[in-house]
Amino acid sequence: MKEMLLLKCGELVLKGLNRSRFEEKLISNLRRRLKAVGEFKIYSIQSTIYVEPMNEEADMERALEISLKVFGIVAVCRAAVCEKDYNTISKTAKEYLKDTLINAYTFKVDARRSDKRFPMKSPEICREIGGDLLEEYPHLKVNVQNPEIIVMVEIRDEFAFVHANKIPGAGGMPVGINGHAALLLSGGIDSPVAGYMIAKRGVELSCIHFESFPYTSERAMEKVLSLAKIMTAYTGRLNVFIVPFTQIQEEIRKNCPEDLFTLVMRRFMMRIAESLAVREGCKCIVTGESLGQVASQTIEAMDVTGSVCSIPVFRPVIGMDKEEIVVIARKIGTFETSILPYEDCCTVFSPKHPLTRPKRYQAEEAERGLLIQELIETAINKTKQVMIEGKED
Ligand code: ATP
Ligand code: MG
Repeated sequence: MKEMLLLKCGELVLKGLNRSRFEEKLISNLRRRLKAVGEFKIYSIQSTIYVEPMNEEADMERALEISLKVFGIVAVCRAAVCEKDYNTISKTAKEYLKDTLINAYTFKVDARRSDKRFPMKSPEICREIGGDLLEEYPHLKVNVQNPEIIVMVEIRDEFAFVHANKIPGAGGMPVGINGHAALLLSGGIDSPVAGYMIAKRGVELSCIHFESFPYTSERAMEKVLSLAKIMTAYTGRLNVFIVPFTQIQEEIRKNCPEDLFTLVMRRFMMRIAESLAVREGCKCIVTGESLGQVASQTIEAMDVTGSVCSIPVFRPVIGMDKEEIVVIARKIGTFETSILPYEDCCTVFSPKHPLTRPKRYQAEEAERGLLIQELIETAINKTKQVMIEGKED
């Protein structure tokens, strides 16, 4: 039986030109993501995107899985395609939805007829198909208010579609439609979630990671690259910049008061991130900071670290509890990797009693003995770049 995927676009408030830009971007993202699992024709009609397999080899199961992680899609239906003839539609509904209906108790039929030449009106289609299904599966009961299964029959210009319940999609907006951001990606739980949240709003990401070899290990590095790989299911391929941070940390340790180590270090991270972001065309920086989580994430500390940047710094998990962040980390599949016990550069040099209510001038004074520009330039010149291809790219 021929099948198709029907993808419902999100953000229905978008109108006019924005709407078509949204759909074009979504279709191009889908084309890229689905390429590895077969040949599909992908097109949109009236806010629904159709994914049509071009041959037997096209893997519908994988295509469905992939589509569920593409931002900009609010719901996905896997549908049977058939001729627009009542008997064929009825037969298709009985066969195609057999497993679903056998395991259900209640259902209703919903019909949509965009081809008005079809001889039956929607209420009549619902009634007749409903009757046929009751005859075929006598254990079923119709429940119009709150059915377990909604059997959808759509009569379109070329074909009819039959499908059961929609599967909720990833929501959000197509990646790339709202520009490009630089994500500070550590090996922890929070930053992949922060990246996911910004990507969900249609932003393409580049990642920046600071490593402190030999204080941090090769495996800590691999962990970060694995996290990026997992994120690609949502973000598409990711460019990861790996910045050597050891020299800067050692200079800070030599020259700055201990209670300001972390803050001065984070100011360097922000400066380097901004420089790379601007070079790569990113319009903002994203971090996984959450208010009050650690000493460097108080309002005052984030003022001191954020004040060295002139582009916006977004912190999408700022108001979330750790438990809430963990729920998302589990959903997107990063949690298990994030909790692997490898050290991060932040923990290697962390002071015993960090200042929690620092002032900007204190950090500025602490940095006086450092060759700021030179240190930054050296780190940027030694930065390596790794392209993490998506599983499907
Ligand atoms: P955790 O779940 O352990 O809190 P985290 O990633 O949030 O992990 P924090 O020490 O809280 O780690 O750091 C706050 C934010 O600073 C991170 O979310 C991340 O955006 C950025 N950051 C920290 N360490 C690094 C690093 N080594 N490279 C890049 N960004 C980092
Ligand atoms: Mg954190």
